[in-house]
Amino acid sequence: MSTQAHQVSIVIPLYNEALIIRSLVDRIEGAMKPLGISYELILVNDGSTDATEQAITECRAEHPNIFYINLSRNFGHHNAIRAGLDYAHGECVIMMDGDLEHPPELLPALIREWQNGFYIVNTKRIDTSHQSYFKKKSSTLFYKILNALSGLHIEDGSADFRLIDRKIVNIIRKLNEPDLFMRGIVHWLGFKETSLEYVRGERYAGSTKYTKKKMLRLAIYGITAFSTKPLYLSVYMGLFFIFLSSLLVPYVLWSYFFGSVEKGWSSMMLVIGFFGGLQLMNIGIIGVYLGNVFKQSKQRPHYFIESSNIQSANDDLINN
Ligand code: UDP
Ligand code: MG
Repeated sequence: MSTQAHQVSIVIPLYNEALIIRSLVDRIEGAMKPLGISYELILVNDGSTDATEQAITECRAEHPNIFYINLSRNFGHHNAIRAGLDYAHGECVIMMDGDLEHPPELLPALIREWQNGFYIVNTKRIDTSHQSYFKKKSSTLFYKILNALSGLHIEDGSADFRLIDRKIVNIIRKLNEPDLFMRGIVHWLGFKETSLEYVRGERYAGSTKYTKKKMLRLAIYGITAFSTKPLYLSVYMGLFFIFLSSLLVPYVLWSYFFGSVEKGWSSMMLVIGFFGGLQLMNIGIIGVYLGNVFKQSKQRPHYFIESSNIQSANDDLINN
């Protein structure tokens, strides 16, 4: 059980990353050791179906500061991080991916900025050259749309590799939103923050767990969790097209009295098709918001823990 107070907690969500854990732990140890700061490494196994659990157990034999949390099934990256935050004891918590795309060598710099007084130290990747064209483009587009529709100013290239102070951890733990969109939330909080640049490493092994479908979901959720602008947009669009279609009325009347009706058939079909699509889209937008309310209203826990060797952070930490 975790009794010793560690100054820094490092939280890593892992989903089928068995091949990486050994080098991950070694590189983190290599980066942290020279600092002489005591840290705990919290590995959250997000329902992996490979040998992730065994790999963690093997590493624990050598490193007593490694703690594990096995979730009962796959709850998703964000919920795994949330589990880690709930169990972290550090004065600050660093969250990073487990595939070595976030270089552990940046850890000392993150901690230095925190010691300089920043509550949130974000990171921004500057070289993504070995990412697929689709992922790069979709990431740029994602942040453009997100910023335009949500009123947030999140930079392209920001990922879930950041340090947050205990104060921020306690605030985030109190937010009970489903599918917490971490990138948006930390900006929304508004504490003193800074950002460090890093060259993104290559995924060490395995493959990305973010399918295009998941990324689209994340984009839609990121927008609808932060703003109601799309709802207004749909109203404005509706008004705009009512105006446009009203311009058609004289033409329709003219054709009825002076032209042949069949002639208008194709334009009619076009208009019907177009408005059908528009209506479906707007119902969809409202539906997404309704879905968010639905999830929130159930107030279900964000994850379930099957086994772990760590105690939840003390209540006095939570309430301060
Ligand atoms: N991950 C997770 N649960 C999931 C999907 C991903 O815990 O359902 C972890 C994964 O093991 C990795 C991190 O979240 O440590 C980021 O995932 P990935 O590298 O697949 O995302 P990408 O870097 O491609 O955006
Ligand atoms: Mg990755």
